[in-house]
Order: sequence, then structure tokens, then C-alpha cells
Amino acid sequence: MSPKTKSRIEKLLAGLGEKNIDGILISQPENRRYLSGFDGSAGFLIITPQKNILATDSRYTAQAKSQAPEYEIFPVTSDIENWFPGLAAGLNIKRLGFEGEYLTFSLYRRLCDILGKGKTVLKFVPVEDVVESLRAVKEPGEIELIARAAEIADAAMAHIREELHPGMTEKEAAWEIEKFMRDNGSQPLPFDVIVASGPNSALPHTQPSARAIREAEPIVIDIGARVEGYASDLSRTVCLGAPDDTFKKVYDTVLGAQLGAIAVIKPEMSGGEADQIARIIIEEGGYGEAFGHGLGHGVGLAIHEKPRLGSGSSDKLADGMVFAIEPGIYIEGWGGVRIEDLVIMEAGKIREISKARK
Ligand code: ZN
Repeated sequence: MSPKTKSRIEKLLAGLGEKNIDGILISQPENRRYLSGFDGSAGFLIITPQKNILATDSRYTAQAKSQAPEYEIFPVTSDIENWFPGLAAGLNIKRLGFEGEYLTFSLYRRLCDILGKGKTVLKFVPVEDVVESLRAVKEPGEIELIARAAEIADAAMAHIREELHPGMTEKEAAWEIEKFMRDNGSQPLPFDVIVASGPNSALPHTQPSARAIREAEPIVIDIGARVEGYASDLSRTVCLGAPDDTFKKVYDTVLGAQLGAIAVIKPEMSGGEADQIARIIIEEGGYGEAFGHGLGHGVGLAIHEKPRLGSGSSDKLADGMVFAIEPGIYIEGWGGVRIEDLVIMEAGKIREISKARK
């Protein structure tokens, strides 16, 4: 068994034990990959103290055997009604957890029907965040992959700063960035490249358009690469030619909020408290209403994962967590500024993983 997978499963089972749950059914793709190494697009893991089962169909059995050697591969045939009873009968457990936030209601109902018809004593129990909270604290190997993905994004940002010129459309710039990242070792990108210029930059998640970029306006560029499944996330706001006074004021406020947060965030702080640090700085700058999204989010196998840094988040920050810090100010009709870096909490302090020039 790969030591990595083994220790993840041990931690998971210990966490379930505390909740009085004997095993867990996993179907969320990133959780499945994290716990097994299997990166196919369909399959269920069933993890109990006695055995680890990976149920998948014939498209994936060979891949599953090679990627998840520590799992017993259970062949999935047609509807779940046909194969789940046989699998459940052999489990010899009473309470099987499932991912409460992920399993669909329709599949949950079908599984309950199956159990209702059988003679098993097995009960389904919804659990939340058990795998997600393990994933939030990164292992050294994961940090290395995220750092490689961040390096590709940094290089792409430097590249597009050279290439950007008045008249280039947002779409052309976005494609130039995507091509650069794929040519430089990124897997398919974790999210579509955002290039938003002028008034478009006031929309935090807009799609690149055919609008030609002009001088003296904000251009928000938000990009991420992916290496061996692990994502990076980076945003810069640039301006061709001389920026107007609004740009200077907004940019300095956003940068001040980001650097302020980076200096002060520490372990044991909640995601809500971390968000508040940047929010107060932006409010004091007079732009309180214009910071409409959260301060940041964990990044790993998923581009948005635990911890969440935003109003009301009780996620506790801890050493080993990797997350993006991305304050922004958006003014309708004028545009926006967002500055986003990937950081890691290490020995009680924030270290920046992203190196792109600000
Ligand atoms: Zn982000």
C-alpha cells in the first residue's frame, strides 16, 4: 500500500470512529482521488477498517487496478440496484457514512430502498467535511505540486505582461495565457482564464470577450495551472499606459488589504476573522461596499476547497494549509482591481507561494 494513501485512510477511519461510524462511501471525485489515487471519472470507494473497495465499471477496471493497488476492485454492472446489495452484504458493518453535501438525493433514496428490501442492518449516516478537512492540510508532496502549478501561472503572468498591448482583445489575451500554460507543463486548466478589461473588470468572474483592451484602464487577469491534479490560482490587475487617479487609489487599497492580511493571519484564526482583517482595511479606504466576495479559499485537488476565508466562516486556519488571498474592489462602470496570491501557513506564519510581480 502506498504510504501516502495508507496514512490518509488511517486518519479518515480515526475521524469516523469518533463519530461512531464504521465505514464510508465516497463518490466525490477529488475525495475519491485523494483517498485512492484513482483519477477516473466514475466510481465509489467503500472504506471500512476491514477492507477498501473501489467499485467501478469496465471502462476503468484496468486503470483502477494500477492506480489504486490497495483497493479491492468491485465490478459495477448497470444499475446500482444490481450490484450494491451484493457488496453491502459482505461489509459486516452497521453504520456506513456518506458525503452528505455531495451524494444526490435521488441516489440516496435508491440506496435506502435497496437496504430496505434486504435483510441487512446497515444504516446510512450523512457526514460532512471528513475528507475535505483532511485535504485542507497539505502533505509535503502536495505542496510541491501546488508550487509547480503556481510557478507555471507566475511565468504565464510575466509572459502576458510582455504581450499585452492596446487593441488586443480579452479573448486573444486569454488564449495566449492558456496556450503558454499548456506548453509549459500544465494539465487542462482548473478554470477558464479570466481577462477582464475596463468596465468588464467590475464583474469578478466574467468571461473574456471580444472587447479590445485600451490604455489607462484596469485589466484583471485571473489564472491557474494544474500539475498532477493540483491547482494554482493567481490574479493580477495591470494597466497599460498611465493609470487614472481612481486606479491608483483602488489598487493601493486592495494591495494594502492583501499585505495586511498576509502579515496578520495566523493559525487558530477562523476564516471569518481572516476575512475581517482585509475587509476593515478596504472599509477604511472607503470601498467597503465594493468588496463583494470572500477573502480567499483553500486550493488543492479542487480550485475551491477548505478552508473558506469569508464572512462567517468558522474554518480554523492551521499550519500546512494552502489558500488563496484575493481581496478585490469592484466599481460598476469603471472597473475592478483584484490581487490574488497563493500562500501556505507554515510554522505559524504565512509564506507566499506565488512569486508574480505586484
Ligand atoms: Zn481564487
